[in-house]
Amino acid sequence: MIIVPEKEIAGLISAEECFDAVEAVFAAMARGEAYNFPVIREAIGHADALYGFKSGFDRAGLVLGLKSGGYWPGNAAKGLTNHQSTVVLFDADSGRPHALVGGNLLTALRTAAASAVSIKHLARPDARVLGMVGAGHQSAYQMRAAVAQRDFDKVVGWNFHPEMLSRLAETAEDLGLPFEAVSLEELGAQADVIITITSSFAPLLMDAHIRPGTHLACMGTDTKGKQEVEAAILARARVFTDEVAQSVSIGEAQHAVAAGVIGEADICQIGAVIAGLAPGRSSEDEITLFDGTGVGLQDLAVAARAVDLARDKGVAIEVDL
Ligand code: NAD
Repeated sequence: MIIVPEKEIAGLISAEECFDAVEAVFAAMARGEAYNFPVIREAIGHADALYGFKSGFDRAGLVLGLKSGGYWPGNAAKGLTNHQSTVVLFDADSGRPHALVGGNLLTALRTAAASAVSIKHLARPDARVLGMVGAGHQSAYQMRAAVAQRDFDKVVGWNFHPEMLSRLAETAEDLGLPFEAVSLEELGAQADVIITITSSFAPLLMDAHIRPGTHLACMGTDTKGKQEVEAAILARARVFTDEVAQSVSIGEAQHAVAAGVIGEADICQIGAVIAGLAPGRSSEDEITLFDGTGVGLQDLAVAARAVDLARDKGVAIEVDL
């Protein structure tokens, strides 16, 4: 079995390689070649922690495995990351363990890759202003991946906790882009592409904020009850997702479906657009919305790539199990 420690991941796999792996596995899902297994998520009654598994099988790439992970709110005080993830891959022919891979950085990279894939396939080609709602850990990865997809000349941002906006300003500066902190009204008025990446449980962006032609990548809602945008936006938009079952249960679409303003059949798997099986954006004025809920196959795809790269670069640790 191969071990790829967390500390090696940054030096091994790039955002571009994660983008390619995620785009490919989304297409494989739409072709019926890869599927996710039901998600397990439990409050364990210790350390206030949430713990669970995301897993799946990519039959085309022969990638089988799971990501174990969760949220330990007391970790930051101990100098550890609150979100903890580890990927285990298995040999699809024998069931033997194949690799153990640190999954913390990979989670941020695969999540940013998903919204970037949506921007590539759904945003207007002439998009110039990127709007960021959220300034937490994930936001910097999101911004970096997004700017690779369009010729953005400005970033505007809003955050519930304004003191965190420096993260967006510093990331934009690093990318050579001007940054402006704005109200949500102003963000909707200026932005051509909007990424939401917060842990909000109430809508932040309202229907009145959103202009025709906007692409939204809603990435924060990955649990029942969370919500970042008003359900009326989904009623006005064409809605895309990584996986429809997750979108209607734990994603942003849970609220619009429960309110009866859209149905499950109105939501398109983004892999179908990538694979040429469904149309993407159909006009300049259309609002497109990607409901990125985070699927296990994304984790397996980037972890499998990291294992290949670790082998190539001689940093994989081999153990007999
Ligand atoms: P973080 O804790 O570093 O940051 C949290 C963000 O949410 C900050 O911007 C904070 O200001 C904001 N926030 C907190 N409470 C809020 C409230 N009541 N109203 C509005 N905003 C509020 O978290 P992170 O690691 O950046 O993750 C952000 C979100 O993305 C989380 O909800 C996380 O579960 C989700 N996430 C989704 C995926 C996916 O695949 N879709 C992957 C990773 C993380």
